[in-house]
Amino acid sequence: MVDLSSQYQKLKPRIDAAMQQVIDACAFIKGPFVEKFEAELAHYLGVKHVIGCANGTEALMVALMALGLPRGSEVLTPDFTFVASAEAIALLGLVPILVDVDSETFNIDLAKARALVGPNTRAIMPVHLFGQAAPMHELLEMAQELDLKVIEDCAQSLGADVLLPDGSRRKAGTLGHIGCTSFYPSKNLGAYGDGGAIFTNDDGLAWKIRSISNHGMARERYFYDSVGVNSRLDALQAVVLSEKLKELDQYNQSRQQAADHYDRAFANHPQLRVPARHPASTHIFHQYTLVVSGADRDALKEHLQRAGVPSMVYYPKPLHEQEPYRVSINASGEFPVTDELCRGVLSLPMHTELDQEQLDYICQQVLSFFKD
Ligand SMILES: *Cc1c(COP(=O)(O)O)cnc(C)c1O
Repeated sequence: MVDLSSQYQKLKPRIDAAMQQVIDACAFIKGPFVEKFEAELAHYLGVKHVIGCANGTEALMVALMALGLPRGSEVLTPDFTFVASAEAIALLGLVPILVDVDSETFNIDLAKARALVGPNTRAIMPVHLFGQAAPMHELLEMAQELDLKVIEDCAQSLGADVLLPDGSRRKAGTLGHIGCTSFYPSKNLGAYGDGGAIFTNDDGLAWKIRSISNHGMARERYFYDSVGVNSRLDALQAVVLSEKLKELDQYNQSRQQAADHYDRAFANHPQLRVPARHPASTHIFHQYTLVVSGADRDALKEHLQRAGVPSMVYYPKPLHEQEPYRVSINASGEFPVTDELCRGVLSLPMHTELDQEQLDYICQQVLSFFKD
């Protein structure tokens, strides 16, 4: 599904030298390398503050802690996604309210979200799934009207542009109160281990986030303002990320080119739906996800596997059907789109190193399934 080895070979001299520098300096935790990367990412995103942390899941957790929502507050988040958002919400004694998604974009359905807002609803946590942002303009209007905090999960969309009605562009993750991302190795900007970051334009929130992610300590060493956690980005990861950030736009373009190739092969196929491009966001294709209909998705997956083509089902089971999250089912308890997607989605290999020959072979193998 990914080819991190070929990608590394191209950057090897730069990355090896940068890591050696950290080891020589013995500046492993916090310090100048991490600060440099935080400043570079802030510049890239056009956001005031970037705070590194240990991973994307803790980024979401620390963001929620910084907002200080009262226990039992409800947070709207999509049903069709990776578990981290609902997990972070539940872990903090808040209630994830799972929302069905849009069948075209796989992102949170705002009309359904609005219908679930009650007196205890305090926040909304959209996930910009597979590399394309949720409709942020409408989402922010709704959040303002209903007085909801907005935490954007852009673990899969770092570098995507949100296109606003006035023609301006903003990076996904920088429009809500707080944005969170992950540098898990297979993400569009991946470290060589775990890592994450939190972004905000709010000075007060930035200060709280820095403090919470460092044991609740902010003003002075060994004096605590709140109960915090230990969630830090380490310097070896920061220098890898600094080098790879310079390539991120190019990486995302390679993914878009691979996606265009897939689109051309599958666009008119009666049993395959190619991923929709929403006019309010660019798509950086963390995943290229087809929806299979009128055919057996799992049989297609096996057919590809026999031909040596990896594919994955993101995500096979809705959160509302997972034991720990059954309590958080919404009032209607119905998630028709998520249910349909879990049966039909199939993600094809997507990374920065796919060449024409590989893409042609993958497309041929997908299409040959339907001819048998
Ligand atoms: C990867 C991912 C996360 C979690 O990131 P980790 O760094 O693995 O903790 C959170 N949300 C989404 C949507 C993700 O894809």
